[in-house]
Amino acid sequence: MNKKNVLTVKNLNKVYSKNGSKQTKALNNLNLEVKEGEIFGLLGPNGAGKSTFINILGGSVIKTDGEVNVWGFNLDKNPRQVRASIGIVPQEVNFDPFFSPRKLLELQAGLYGIKTKDRITNTILKLVSLEDQADSYARSLSGGMKRRLLIAKAMVHQPPIIILDEPTAGVDVELRTTLWENVRSLNKQGVTTILTTHYLEEAEKMCDRIGILSEGNLVALDTTKNLLERIQTKIVYFILDKKTNIKDDLFESLKIISNEEKKLVLSYEKSKLSIDKIIAEIKKQGVLIQDISTDDGDLEDVFLRLTKS
Ligand code: ADP
Ligand code: MG
Repeated sequence: MNKKNVLTVKNLNKVYSKNGSKQTKALNNLNLEVKEGEIFGLLGPNGAGKSTFINILGGSVIKTDGEVNVWGFNLDKNPRQVRASIGIVPQEVNFDPFFSPRKLLELQAGLYGIKTKDRITNTILKLVSLEDQADSYARSLSGGMKRRLLIAKAMVHQPPIIILDEPTAGVDVELRTTLWENVRSLNKQGVTTILTTHYLEEAEKMCDRIGILSEGNLVALDTTKNLLERIQTKIVYFILDKKTNIKDDLFESLKIISNEEKKLVLSYEKSKLSIDKIIAEIKKQGVLIQDISTDDGDLEDVFLRLTKS
């Protein structure tokens, strides 16, 4: 079954110009689609154009040209409906530190014209585990709590799409996990999720599909699974009964990372060499293999190769 697209971007360009002179091409002919219900990750180093893209969707940055459709609404023709369809969690904390979480959510609901009886403030506070802090000053919240409050704020008008811009930047590991649980539970309730990150491991774990941005160009767009399959370098750890004298130049692409008394670590390119040959060579030397484990590498490999110009 094919899911419908909830976001379609065609030939999107953004050029920032400063006082007419210096120009920055932040997005270069971006084309992508996001499907209903998925978690889509936009990955890229600092300056790649991730925030620019998100801020165009949110209306705080004006695109240079191209077409954007969100939830069936065209950004040029129906900007209000586009805004109503998405909840944006910005990269920077942007709320008044002297309001309480409850007050902030009530104000935000007011901005969206949601009647008091239709507000779901308590439900949202519960969703992001901030019930206990509902009436404290926002400035007294921890970094992770502030992030969660930003998510809550983006959910006030119950948008079908939530967009998170580097939600875990500067958040410690434990809180990061909680944050991702929040995002997952929202997604399970049917909210399509778009997030940006430069933590590759995070994208790998969270996202169904990943787009990789580099200097405004989309250099990869695929399922996380397919991207992982494109990883070439394989690392193998052997536990042996004695030392081998296996050398780099024995096979194409083979690299000996370490060769100790009973432990051998090496890498090779999947397209150029197979593990059978390496195993056969070790056996030929009369060395007994006691254990083998492999490491598939991660998206960092793909990322580095794709963004290396
Ligand atoms: P990312 O979020 O991936 O780190 P950004 O979208 O923030 O990337 O930035 C993309 C590029 O656009 C960078 O080169 C950045 O310096 C530039 N840029 C971003 N915002 C502005 C702005 N308001 N004015 C001028 N240049 C900008
Ligand atoms: Mg950014």
